[in-house]
Amino acid sequence: MKFGLISAAQCDVLVDKMVARIKVWSSRNLSYTTRMQLINSVLMSIHMYWAQVFILPKKVLQEVTKVCRAFLWSGQAYSQKNSNISWESSCCDKKQGGLGFRDDGDWWEYKPVASASWYWKKICAIKERLKLVYTQTELAAMPHYSVKTVYEKIIGPKPVIQWDNMVWNRLNIPKHRFICWLAVQDRLQTTAKLARFGVSNTASCLICGQADEDHKHLFFACPYSSRCISALKAWLGITYSTGNLKQLMRCIAHGRMSKFRRQVSFAMLAAAVYAVWSSRNGCFWNASFPTVQNMVARVKQNVRDRILVVLPKHVSRRDSLWFATL
Ligand SMILES: [Zn+2]
Repeated sequence: MKFGLISAAQCDVLVDKMVARIKVWSSRNLSYTTRMQLINSVLMSIHMYWAQVFILPKKVLQEVTKVCRAFLWSGQAYSQKNSNISWESSCCDKKQGGLGFRDDGDWWEYKPVASASWYWKKICAIKERLKLVYTQTELAAMPHYSVKTVYEKIIGPKPVIQWDNMVWNRLNIPKHRFICWLAVQDRLQTTAKLARFGVSNTASCLICGQADEDHKHLFFACPYSSRCISALKAWLGITYSTGNLKQLMRCIAHGRMSKFRRQVSFAMLAAAVYAVWSSRNGCFWNASFPTVQNMVARVKQNVRDRILVVLPKHVSRRDSLWFATL
């Protein structure tokens, strides 16, 4: 049988096992205390063992409860005899006036035993997280259980970012996308960051050495990248001046230009970020980096080549002419 939900018919074995045990005991005249102990130690452990491996159907859990309840009050597996105390009350902890049966029928309140498997504990932990965002009634009221809806509710609302179009732009050179994705979130391992972690003994910019190498400096304030980016912006006629990658992207995204020009601008920006980062790494590994002229020429060439390969089908005549002049 597979791990997971199994049919009620497959669970008949579980109920049969419990009934078989009770049949053996029923020939003896057992006291209530003994029956209580047997339920706790034997019947509940058969049930618990199954519950660790399978998600038991509700019908089966009801059957298990019925068998245990009948045994407690009559000593038989099946009986119509009335219970003196409701099953729910019997299942309470002894401190709460019950007999301490573990009624796993209530999955909502279920806690795995210490010896339960790692997988089972993980499943139970997820259930606990679910309880933080849903009440039992809310879940029951769902017409269809939707994994997507529940997952989104568990992880909580995430702010929508404004830069995905730029980072994952179709015209970007694929290998530039990942570095760009990190750069826009200030997540590249700059020397300022490494120094903060104690990995690097300097925080200075590897290219100019004039300031701490954080994202703002590396891509905009550094004399080297500032000259590169200015040249590349001039190449495409971008006039926005900002010292922040995210802001520059936003300006381009909302600027008055055609979709194609915007896409080319994004591709250039991603290529520029990648090239600056490569130059910086060149300083670190080889103590050398390309001149501003070389770097700019290479970025222009890379962007032109890429766009020729993935040129969108519907580019206006005006945009085509503009691209031809680049
Ligand atoms: Zn610098």
